[in-house]
Amino acid sequence: MQNIGQKAGQKIAVIGAGQMGSGIAQTVAGFGHDVILSDVSLDLAQRAVGKIEAALGKLVGKGKIEIADAEATIARITPAADYGAMAEADLIIEAATEREEIKQSIFEAAGKVLRSDAIMASNTSSIPITRMANFSPDPARFIGLHFFNPVPVMGLIEVIPGLATAEATTQAIVAFAEGLGKQVVLSQDEPGFVVNRILLPMINEAIFVLGQSTANIEDIDKGCRLGLNHPMGPLQLADFVGLDTCLDIIMVLYNTTGDSKYRPAPLLVKYVEAGWLGRKTGRGFYDYSGELPVPTR
Ligand code: NAD
Repeated sequence: MQNIGQKAGQKIAVIGAGQMGSGIAQTVAGFGHDVILSDVSLDLAQRAVGKIEAALGKLVGKGKIEIADAEATIARITPAADYGAMAEADLIIEAATEREEIKQSIFEAAGKVLRSDAIMASNTSSIPITRMANFSPDPARFIGLHFFNPVPVMGLIEVIPGLATAEATTQAIVAFAEGLGKQVVLSQDEPGFVVNRILLPMINEAIFVLGQSTANIEDIDKGCRLGLNHPMGPLQLADFVGLDTCLDIIMVLYNTTGDSKYRPAPLLVKYVEAGWLGRKTGRGFYDYSGELPVPTR
């Protein structure tokens, strides 16, 4: 019988301490769970905990949370660089780079310590859950748990059972997600699931529009904000997601479906090759070095 569910005080391991893993750790710890946050080095994991502490400090400064709650949240997060402590976890959430070979090595290593009643979940944006479940010790206890960025703010989680995922696993994970104050959308295990299947072709098309000089960055984003009533334009959203992650997702859609409508925009490939990955590197379609983002073309 799985332990995971709505009650606080469960032990959660989060693997990958980038934008998503940090946000997941902050949210999960904020709801009273104990978190191990790991990355390829202890230094990276510790730096992520430092960033979470700074983010919580800002929320305290704005009067959104109490200082005692911020301190309790950060005290529940332990940085790590190995899998040993994950032997106690009720749930392991993988949130590492969107590359199948990286995720495979993580599932195989974490699988060696996964308790026989614990669940393993992936925060992948697009890689098939059914296929990755085979890298874990028990596909019945493997599932997609797809958070949105920034995790503490966004109200949605997609839950994606693979073909072999047990119904009990799905129910436990839906209860866990709802216990984080999120709404859940269930998706079949199809490339991109629901939201990214719709979003990524839009972002990719916006980059084609830019590459063909149909309009500049500001006008493409303004057009979608005002014309479609989107809170943020697709190019700015791409910067927030990370252009490397956008390219990885669109390549998964392209390779898994073989459908040419998912071919990546050449300009997206160029930006990734230049290392201009969006907000996380300080430059993507916008430059983030000043107070306000400035369009770069
Ligand atoms: P990121 O580049 O910010 O972070 C990835 C982290 O994984 C890095 O810190 C990296 O060092 C770490 N990592 C790489 N290999 C590792 C390993 N073997 N063990 C432990 N850590 C390892 O990327 P991100 O935006 O946080 O995305 C992470 C995952 O979340 C991806 O699967 C992505 O598709 C998914 N996701 C991203 C978004 C988004 O908007 N960025 C939204 C939902 C889901």
